[in-house]
Amino acid sequence: MFSEKEIQKIRSQFPILKKKIYSNPLVYVDNAATTQKPIEVIQASQNYYYTMNSNVHRGLHYLSHKATLHVENVRKKIQKFINAKHSSEIIFTKGTTESINLVASSMDAFIKKGDEIIISQIEHHSNIVPWQILCKKKGAILKIIPIYENGFLKLKDFEFLISKKTKIVSISHISNVLGIINPVKNIIDKSHEYGAIVLIDGAQVPSNLDLDVQDLNVDFYVFSAHKMYGPTGIGILYGKNQILNKLDPYQFGGEMIKNVSFNKTTYSDLPFKFEAGTPNIEGIIVWGYAIDFIKKIGVSNIQSYKKKLLMYAIQRLSSIDGIQLYGETKDLSKRSGIISFNLNQLHCFDVGSVLDRLGIAVRTGHLCAQPLMNFFKVSGMIRVSFSVYNTFKEIDYLFEGILKAKKILLN
Ligand SMILES: *Cc1c(COP(=O)(O)O)cnc(C)c1O
Repeated sequence: MFSEKEIQKIRSQFPILKKKIYSNPLVYVDNAATTQKPIEVIQASQNYYYTMNSNVHRGLHYLSHKATLHVENVRKKIQKFINAKHSSEIIFTKGTTESINLVASSMDAFIKKGDEIIISQIEHHSNIVPWQILCKKKGAILKIIPIYENGFLKLKDFEFLISKKTKIVSISHISNVLGIINPVKNIIDKSHEYGAIVLIDGAQVPSNLDLDVQDLNVDFYVFSAHKMYGPTGIGILYGKNQILNKLDPYQFGGEMIKNVSFNKTTYSDLPFKFEAGTPNIEGIIVWGYAIDFIKKIGVSNIQSYKKKLLMYAIQRLSSIDGIQLYGETKDLSKRSGIISFNLNQLHCFDVGSVLDRLGIAVRTGHLCAQPLMNFFKVSGMIRVSFSVYNTFKEIDYLFEGILKAKKILLN
């Protein structure tokens, strides 16, 4: 738990938080969409162009060598951050979405007619559509793990769905709508009993849970930098060496080849086989500073602080007459700092617009999870998601804001 002074110190590292929105202080609670960036991250971006800009893995010259060194250091930093066995198991991508697409495309050769792929009811569209397309192309079958009313996966049904026909299981670690932490270790172990390969969508995880891909024994793990205080347009695919080695590349071009002639091309070794073209060099290098920022505060400190914010917010919001909070609200041990709700019969966009005028940034709409919206029989929700720089006072302000929205919109 942070003292008031510590929180103010953390806040002072995020310049954007000083901004006024329609002459109100900004209350930024859309962190599940993207987090704000601390000064060291912003400055690292400028510093890169001031001192290092050049292409990597190609030039022999000083700058290219320096940029390459920094890129490869960040790869090692991420390896350590998630406890991967080898740095060559870290593939840089545009982000979570591209990582899942990479796996879905590259797994193509291993999927045949009648095979099955399992996802769940709560997935983000990024973890639905690539599998749907793959199934359609190969005549495979997409199976869905259903959920209880509180948003928890029906694990009994999963045990019923999984079989020798299951080739891939792809599940989110933390739901971007309900904040529910799924029991992925159980799912991974069970899937392996049947020889299925498991991908975990960890987009909401890196500053919320300690990550250990070896302990999870997961085959693929994916996330983006921009939801963990880093820049947009960069993320990773973690994959076990022995699996990545068996897959064909996803894109073709420079950087990923060993030899090219017009008759035959041979591919580079990992990780470069999957990194065609000039990568997001700046993004990779700057991401390293975001990881340092998280490590300085400590993932478990961030996690327990966000849990306190969640508990307080659930307590305050649930006292509002006519509010519908989604997902488990009693036992919060399996939830991270995300709350989605609706207010009376009001449209989520109307509520969001009133909050916006008060300087409160929330997410509204289907939250990239239409099948989950269908489950709750709504077209959209209002989502509040916390970060390390949010405060209890902001939750009070949000509470007042929701009351105001009710008053304005219901009259
Ligand atoms: C944000 C998010 C994604 C997509 O991440 P991008 O950075 O937009 O590629 C996928 N899954 C979950 C659970 C997310 O929260």
